Amino acid sequence: MARWHGRYALQDVFPVLFSEIVNKHHSVLEMGRWEQLRWQWNVVEDEIALSQVAREELLELKQLLVGVEPKLSGEDSWVWSLNGTGTFKVKDYYNLLMRNPAGGLMEQRKIEALDVVWNSWLPSKVRIFGWRLIKDGLPTREQLVKRGIIAGNEDSFCVFGCQCQENINHLFLSCQVAVGVWEKIYLWLELDIHPLVECSEDLLQMIDILHRVRSPRRVGAIWLTVCWSIWRHRNDIVFNNGVCNIAEIIYNVKMYSWWWLAIGNKCKVTCNFYEWNQCPLLYL
Ligand SMILES: [Zn+2]
Repeated sequence: MARWHGRYALQDVFPVLFSEIVNKHHSVLEMGRWEQLRWQWNVVEDEIALSQVAREELLELKQLLVGVEPKLSGEDSWVWSLNGTGTFKVKDYYNLLMRNPAGGLMEQRKIEALDVVWNSWLPSKVRIFGWRLIKDGLPTREQLVKRGIIAGNEDSFCVFGCQCQENINHLFLSCQVAVGVWEKIYLWLELDIHPLVECSEDLLQMIDILHRVRSPRRVGAIWLTVCWSIWRHRNDIVFNNGVCNIAEIIYNVKMYSWWWLAIGNKCKVTCNFYEWNQCPLLYL
């Protein structure tokens, strides 16, 4: 079923044949045998039982496999197949991740948001958090219900007690706690806007408004630090019986964003925390 010959899995190239054969889960080595040092394919046990279409596909498959055989000697080894060199490159994997499980491209806006997240001036753990956020891969309560880890109904309600399903758009944007945090952050950044209802769009809105004068890497870092701080606060409530405190979230946003942007060697935000707290736009 895996991709081992050509660019596509053979089950996708010959779907009718695949649906009719019984040995679907055999390894390549189980699909033939060595006879006097020559490899003989034996893909189908009983060709007579196949439909006409499947037999035609089988004929094509046999032609495709002419000259293809397992190696009789030598060790098996892993080969990176995403480029022509066989050598692992992060960029290849990044491009692969940009595709959704169905193999199609992700929506353009999500790709743009992921680009911002990936290139922001933040520690890798926070960028990975952002990556999961944009791809809706964080273990919110709604996700845990979908995966059957917790029961539905009230168990999936927001931990801040507002009787709504806890999903990423609620938790980071429309929840009463998130709205309270963003209000103060917008004031701090001197922005006259409101949170949108979808995370990628909200991130890009902030970039669009500020990018002419500020680096998207830094603006993206602030947006992501807000979500990171809300998520940590939420986890503190879930796992440590913490108490909801919007002022503490806002302080953490300012503190962490200053720490990461000022300490990051490449970023060179040069101010002390007092200056940052007073007017971040002067240093972004
Ligand atoms: Zn809520």
